[in-house]
Amino acid sequence: MLNREKSTACFERACRTIPGGVNSPARAFGAVGGEPLIMQRGEGQYLYDIDGNRLLDYVGSWGPHILGHGHPAVTGAIEDALRNRGTSFGAPTELETELAELVVDAVPSIEMVRMVNSGTEATMSAIRLARGFTGRNVVIKFAGCYHGHVDSLLVQAGSGALTHGVPSSPGVPAGCTADTIALEYNNLDELAETFEKRGDEIACIILEPVVGNMGVVAPQPGFLEGCRDLCTKHDALLIFDEVMTGFRLAYGGAQERFGVTPDLTTLGKIIGGGLPVGAYGGRADVMKTVSPTGPVYQAGTLSGNPLAMASGIATLRTLKDTNPYPQLEQTTATLVEGLRNAAAEADIPHSVAQVGSMFTLFFNPDPVTSFTVSARNDTDRFARYFQGMLNRGVYLPCSQFEANFVSAKHTDDDIAATITAARETLAELQQG
Ligand SMILES: *Cc1c(COP(=O)(O)O)cnc(C)c1O
Repeated sequence: MLNREKSTACFERACRTIPGGVNSPARAFGAVGGEPLIMQRGEGQYLYDIDGNRLLDYVGSWGPHILGHGHPAVTGAIEDALRNRGTSFGAPTELETELAELVVDAVPSIEMVRMVNSGTEATMSAIRLARGFTGRNVVIKFAGCYHGHVDSLLVQAGSGALTHGVPSSPGVPAGCTADTIALEYNNLDELAETFEKRGDEIACIILEPVVGNMGVVAPQPGFLEGCRDLCTKHDALLIFDEVMTGFRLAYGGAQERFGVTPDLTTLGKIIGGGLPVGAYGGRADVMKTVSPTGPVYQAGTLSGNPLAMASGIATLRTLKDTNPYPQLEQTTATLVEGLRNAAAEADIPHSVAQVGSMFTLFFNPDPVTSFTVSARNDTDRFARYFQGMLNRGVYLPCSQFEANFVSAKHTDDDIAATITAARETLAELQQG
């Protein structure tokens, strides 16, 4: 068992001034029971909490830390920007162009890009742009995909919104979601029917090209291509929300990996290297519709912030130079194979999904292809698995409906230790 004395006291204190003691609901342990650990620092593949426990981290700040915590190139760049530049000017800097050029160079669909401060801001702005560009209002999303807490997209949303059983939220007026249609992921027939009926009203499809926010769900062969074809046929825009998958599944994201090119792409997480950055970009003719070259308004006091740009540039350069993707894929495959065997040995119904360095062990006998299937996960069993792993020093996302992330710092020994922890935990679950 972990010593949690200081964490417990600190969390009690936090709850007096912060709703639920957390600044984002995904961090609360509501789905697994107990209270979150309070972190002190991160180093490589490890987190250290304020009681001094060392935890092998598969959360990576929910995606950004593909290079591990505190990579020297990244912290060095932030330090340099702080010392030699400053924190914010509200005027253009060279750093913004440098990061924009790296993004345009990396992501196949992006010809021009606008920096914002979070993934939520990126998807909100991309939706507005798609509507402004097409002159249409209807947005298609898929159940279980999470696109941040944008009003119009909080319909059958994934991640924390799933875990906490509030598929949509009070405070979002019906008018905000009246033009949002939520369909089943991987169901091309349903999508085609919808386009057949309402094609000339549809501004865009927004989707996670690989879903991370109902647990990892891969697109079935032909699904992304089908989305692309329907959008092209009906003059709607295709938006890949690559906030999680961008620079994660390949340097050019899921669109590079699957060879399907959207019109617009949203980015976040890795692009900030642990600082708050989001971005949306795509076809130049569409992006030129954004203010000040076009009429679609979007702005940000701290957008393109020099510290955040420096962190993003250092992260992308390091990824480009070191190309960790083949190794990440291999490390993750070894881990996933070990988890699969451990679950089978313990005779626990399961399925495992992996794409690149994202994976989920589902307590569900069926392969998860959509939210309909993911909703049948045994979340009680997951909660006990989570606690068993935590007590063995392995820090997993605190919900069954999340992706686990492997970083470039995870070693073969880490993977072996994780498999051992899983074998012990799953054997206990079988008995309990
Ligand atoms: C995390 C995430 C978002 C929201 O990003 P924030 O920075 O948390 O606002 C949007 N889309 C996807 C796919 C995400 O994973």
